[in-house]
Amino acid sequence: MTAITTAAPAPVSAPSPASALSAPNATLLAAAPGISTVDRIAHLKLSSITLPLTTPISDAKVLTGRQKPMTEVAFLFVEVTTQNGHSGIGFSYSKRAGGPGQFAHAKEIADVLIGEDPSDIGKLWVKLCWAGASVGRSGLATQAIAAFDVALWDLKAKRASLPLSKLLGSYRDSVRTYNTSGGFLHTPIEQVLENSAAALESGIGGIKLKVGQPDWRTDVARVTAVREHLDDDVPLMVDANQQWDRASAMRMGRIFEEFGLVWIEEPLDAYDAEGHAQLARSLDTSIATGEMLASVAEHARLIEVGAADIVQPDAPRIGGITQFLKLAALAESKQLEIAPHFAMEIHCHLAAAYPIEPWVEHFDWLDPLFNEHLETRDGRMWVSDRPGLGFTLSEQAAAWTVGTAEFGRRP
Ligand SMILES: [Mg+2]
Repeated sequence: MTAITTAAPAPVSAPSPASALSAPNATLLAAAPGISTVDRIAHLKLSSITLPLTTPISDAKVLTGRQKPMTEVAFLFVEVTTQNGHSGIGFSYSKRAGGPGQFAHAKEIADVLIGEDPSDIGKLWVKLCWAGASVGRSGLATQAIAAFDVALWDLKAKRASLPLSKLLGSYRDSVRTYNTSGGFLHTPIEQVLENSAAALESGIGGIKLKVGQPDWRTDVARVTAVREHLDDDVPLMVDANQQWDRASAMRMGRIFEEFGLVWIEEPLDAYDAEGHAQLARSLDTSIATGEMLASVAEHARLIEVGAADIVQPDAPRIGGITQFLKLAALAESKQLEIAPHFAMEIHCHLAAAYPIEPWVEHFDWLDPLFNEHLETRDGRMWVSDRPGLGFTLSEQAAAWTVGTAEFGRRP
């Protein structure tokens, strides 16, 4: 029998000033007390959480019979813990169908992260992608990866004791924000007017109104009522949720020119890049779109043809923060504005790190899931100074959890 022996490691001592000057950086860091460059992912917890909505939600897709009113949002949360005790939390989501599918895909691919260095986020995104390569690089599979990716970025920023925006390289501590939830199509116009006043009172800066009614005159009447209700300098946007054809969109866009809208959102089918580009060229009002796209490649097509003056990426929908940053670079190369869709808890950080003044959509739907909340003041959303994304899951989130899965061991 052969004995296996291991040489005793050489004692590690702090380098003297002279040796520090001549030592390579890696050696320096490895030897410096209290600083470790390498950590390992030890444990992952996946949670499927169903958030109920207090009121069934309808946009134009419901009025045209394409979808039923939305009554809940499904979330996939990932909590990652390392050997050294660092942790991060990330999420993805699905409206209507898709939540159980994201959770199922995440469970199939999660174990490839155990034992990996959590700092290698690019490598880990690719590894997760290859684990499910046969189901593609967009849509549901990519959205499952997003929850892991966001958790790894949260962990990295927490480890650096920085808000995520500052880890990425922030341009501002607050971002312009507008309200969407008060202007849905199911909401009577009197209530919309009350909601818009309440939103402004709470420190939100702009108001978005859903359009795309079966009778176009109803849209014009509602936009007129809101415009007259608000001070002239309050930014107002409309969102058609893809319900017009090209001719209708052009006609409505021309009618709306007089209202000085900040943008017209999703006037056409989300994948009609040429149609959006034609509108963007023809109208003074900016065209915004992109929330429904499910990969950077799909966004790149929009940007290539000039389909949007304002790009509306959704980090959980396109694969997380790693992918969002690639898209942001593309958008900046064309000097485009961005107005990320939904998930303000993630997007306030990403927008703060985008060079051109952005907008972030204010949705308070996720508030019950978290112990912390974003502040709005002076028309802006303020990025928290807490490390990472700055959010922890609430007891209510635990109560709404419908499934969990764990991988690896807690340190
Ligand atoms: Mg929208």
